[in-house]
Amino acid sequence: MTRTVDLVIAGGGPAGISTALHVQAANPQISTLVLEKARYPREKICAGGIGARAFRWLDRLGVQVDCPMVKLDAVALRLGGQTIVTRMPNIGVVVRRVEFDHALAKAAIARGIEVRDGCGVAAIAIDDDGVRVTTDTGEELRAKAIVGADGVAGVVRKQAGFPAHKLRAQVVELDTESVAGDQPRDTVVFDFDAQDLAGYAWDFPTLVAGAPMVCRGAYVIRTLGPDDAKARLGTYLRARGLDPARYRHKQYAERGWEPGAEISMPRVLLVGEAAGIDIATGEGIGQAIEYGAVAGPYLARAFDRDVFRFSDWAATVAGHHLGRQLWIRHQCYKWFYGPKRPAVERVMPRLPSLFQVAIEDFAGVPLSKLALMRGAGQFLAAYAREKMRPDD
Ligand SMILES: Cc1cc2nc3c(=O)[nH]c(=O)nc-3n(C[C@H](O)[C@H](O)[C@H](O)COP(=O)(O)OP(=O)(O)OC[C@H]3O[C@@H](n4cnc5c(N)ncnc54)[C@H](O)[C@@H]3O)c2cc1C
Repeated sequence: MTRTVDLVIAGGGPAGISTALHVQAANPQISTLVLEKARYPREKICAGGIGARAFRWLDRLGVQVDCPMVKLDAVALRLGGQTIVTRMPNIGVVVRRVEFDHALAKAAIARGIEVRDGCGVAAIAIDDDGVRVTTDTGEELRAKAIVGADGVAGVVRKQAGFPAHKLRAQVVELDTESVAGDQPRDTVVFDFDAQDLAGYAWDFPTLVAGAPMVCRGAYVIRTLGPDDAKARLGTYLRARGLDPARYRHKQYAERGWEPGAEISMPRVLLVGEAAGIDIATGEGIGQAIEYGAVAGPYLARAFDRDVFRFSDWAATVAGHHLGRQLWIRHQCYKWFYGPKRPAVERVMPRLPSLFQVAIEDFAGVPLSKLALMRGAGQFLAAYAREKMRPDD
């Protein structure tokens, strides 16, 4: 027998659960079914760094995520042989995704949202009246619309026939003990010291089954040239006196947001990594939650009008903080990882106020106008100095 609901959300990660929570907040009458292919608690390969901005979205709904977290008060950048540390209280946290995603799903279930795990979307068919969804357990569903929140390898994108996406990153990570030279445990480290790498290595403090460990990894943007993230991580670890062969490597891909890319079609909306996240750093959890915050009221309006063309979804995202942040980071990524890298390395340490603004944005605190003005001044001064140098 075919079951009918208003909305099916494919994927019970942060984008899917956040969308379900925000739809419910905007209109509790909409019947939503979240289908999650895996069974909670399910692993997601991820370093688990989340800016406090993401929690502000959930706080507005009164949603608490009850799981272990390492609190962050500083970000360290290694660049051109220097380490630049910016301190700010409560920037964000590091979680284990196996715990965080389960806790977030439980918070949605506690509010009466139907989240079915161990039940994936196998196929979708779109017609004038709605969407027919076939699950991998053989069930048939009908809905007025479907949200693809099924991540980088999701089926909704493929089944609905969206064009292939270009911006891809390769990411590899593992957990080790602390070593001499590590930053304090309230600090995340982004290491950009390898000039020829379109990406970076990281050290994030983490808790593995309650034990303090460090998640280390390498993020490599494939679009800027093939590279081997695992080999890069090996080099990074050996420089810190760690033997890569001793640790279990976990590798996965990421999809970057592209300006102008299609992220909707009639009755189908993409959110989170299915749509695309920040290509410059690979940050995607906060963005996934924010996609949900934008999608919730957007979908509620569509149900109000009973119109599901979704033709202005990309423009709606672009007009929101989420879209502006993705756009700025997209502009930065080629500049930062491109041929002007030596100049970038000279300029960046002279821009502490811009770092502060970027971290305030991550933390979701209102941007300090003073830091913005100082940042703009520092940038112009550094740019003028660079102009007077011979080209690299
Ligand atoms: C190694 C690595 C490290 C990272 N570190 C960070 C970090 O520190 N901070 C950060 O912000 N981001 C990080 N990211 C990115 C982040 O993990 C993702 O951007 C984020 O998880 C996206 O959330 P999402 O909900 O869109 O997708 P996902 O978290 O991937 O969730 C998608 C869900 O859909 C389910 N699913 C898949 N197919 C189907 C189907 N057919 N039917 C139903 N369900 C389905 C999956 O099981 C999954 O639960 C990292 C990524 C990698 C690979």
